[in-house]
Amino acid sequence: MLSVVPRPVIVRAPSKVNLHLGVGDLREDGYHELTSVFQALSLSDDVHLTESDALTVRVRGVDADSVPTDRGNLVWQAAELLARRAGRSADVAITIVKGVPVAGGMAGGSADAAATLVGLNELWRLGLDRAELFELGAELGSDVPFTLHGMTALGTGRGEKLLPVLSRNSFHWVIALAKGGLSTPAVFRELDRLRAEGDPPRIGDPDELMHALAAGDATALAPLLGNDLQAAALSLKPELRRTLRAGVTAGALAGIVSGSGPTCAFLCSDEDVAVEVAAELAGAGVCRTIRVAHGPVPGARVLADDISR
Ligand code: ATP
Repeated sequence: MLSVVPRPVIVRAPSKVNLHLGVGDLREDGYHELTSVFQALSLSDDVHLTESDALTVRVRGVDADSVPTDRGNLVWQAAELLARRAGRSADVAITIVKGVPVAGGMAGGSADAAATLVGLNELWRLGLDRAELFELGAELGSDVPFTLHGMTALGTGRGEKLLPVLSRNSFHWVIALAKGGLSTPAVFRELDRLRAEGDPPRIGDPDELMHALAAGDATALAPLLGNDLQAAALSLKPELRRTLRAGVTAGALAGIVSGSGPTCAFLCSDEDVAVEVAAELAGAGVCRTIRVAHGPVPGARVLADDISR
């Protein structure tokens, strides 16, 4: 008798870089109002979802050892959330193939959660629309809606209210991951401390940046990249200054701390320059991992699926 091996639904989900991150004052509820322009990058994770008789998670690829395979993994929480919503059990075997470095401020875990929502909607034939998936995504984490959305978008609130931003052409990036991490809450606390002490300059609104994106002009975009958390990240990890300097010396148009760091992102004029900058940064020994990427790319999307199902 022929046994049919179930084939997985495979979903690819992008990482992100913050081109602009404006941080408002600390609110009474302990949060900061954020204004963020995100761009989805080609550095991505693939999530394989296969019918099974229990919920299991396996992780392969970059930094796989540091990713939990139990309820601590966002894909587990995404599967349980969607199963509850669908009134069914969450029996699915999930394999994550990591391309996005872990804990680098690039939303890798959020991307996997977004991929799981999209993939299970397909595998379980739930027929949920994008708006319903966005709502579920926002329950899982503030970066999940953007990794569902992809491309370039303006996020407000805690990052979960999204508006598409027109972006012409591809932009070329070098992503440099620092040795050691930075805790996001600690970076926000440091910003509050710096603001209590003096008043570090704020980046203003992203209007000009959005014009440069619409024009597809990397040279115009470079000086407009901005991040209110950068001063705090540099204060906690002064060695990032060296990384930022090294990337620009190597030929990048600009370098910026992405999100709360410690990842630094370098905008380059084209792909060849990006490859050269990556090679020089690798030689300079200022970071843990270097990747070349381009953006914008689409949000979480199904790559392949078992047509005989
Ligand atoms: P963000 O940019 O959204 O703040 P990040 O990119 O800095 O996130 P992640 O790679 O998402 O960080 O991982 C942060 C932590 O979350 C990891 O150290 C890990 O313990 C946990 N985690 C849970 N699920 C995942 C996952 N699917 N992939 C990676 N890390 C995960």
